[in-house]
Amino acid sequence: MTAGISLDRLRYVFITHHHSDHNLEYGALLYNASATGKPIQVDAYGPMGLKKLTQDFFEYEKFDIEIRLADEGGVDPRTQIAVHEFDQPGLVMQIQSVKVTSCRVQHPPITQSYAYRFDANDRSIVISGDTAYCPELAGFAKGADVLVHEAMYLPAIEKLIREIPSATRLRQHLLAAHTSTEDVGKIATQAGVKTLVLSHLVPGDDPSITDEQWSEGARKYFKGRIIVGKDLMEI
Ligand SMILES: [Zn+2]
Ligand SMILES: [Zn+2]
Repeated sequence: MTAGISLDRLRYVFITHHHSDHNLEYGALLYNASATGKPIQVDAYGPMGLKKLTQDFFEYEKFDIEIRLADEGGVDPRTQIAVHEFDQPGLVMQIQSVKVTSCRVQHPPITQSYAYRFDANDRSIVISGDTAYCPELAGFAKGADVLVHEAMYLPAIEKLIREIPSATRLRQHLLAAHTSTEDVGKIATQAGVKTLVLSHLVPGDDPSITDEQWSEGARKYFKGRIIVGKDLMEI
């Protein structure tokens, strides 16, 4: 909505994995798109669990959905969503203007975590999802115009750990499941992409880390264009 995109234009949703920071607003997004009152048809793609997540969301809102249908009429939102699950990497969907493929990435303890590649007629974009250093991703992103990759700034992790009580386990999770800015640079160079966009920044709530600091690790290994991703940024 803030990007100025009318919700009834929502057509496809791609979920990379089922951590809550990636699917928490999924149900609300579908329901809000349906609530515009304009006809919508959404195809949602993601790893196993997406069907249950979708059903459970509509179950959670069952009272509201049914009372509105009886009272206000309109279209049942449950009929406007088609869910497509997968448990193997490969072709996700293809239409005339774009082909979408997936690559399994390393995000332990989750085994069903995927990157997506969007090959359109005029450009190719790869989104890493959440992953630790993953050489397969470099092959998957080969020759893409833009690689949007998650990034973790190691010097700030220690500071973050000190501020959070359950620190030891969190540190283990972060190091095992995410990619340092240096390793992101290596992946971008191995893939031969033109532009690297750092996204899903860990820590994501520390304004003292400058764009220069976010970029410097990747720049040691990658000589292309580096952009530090911000919400609502258009590239
Ligand atoms: Zn995750
Ligand atoms: Zn995440």
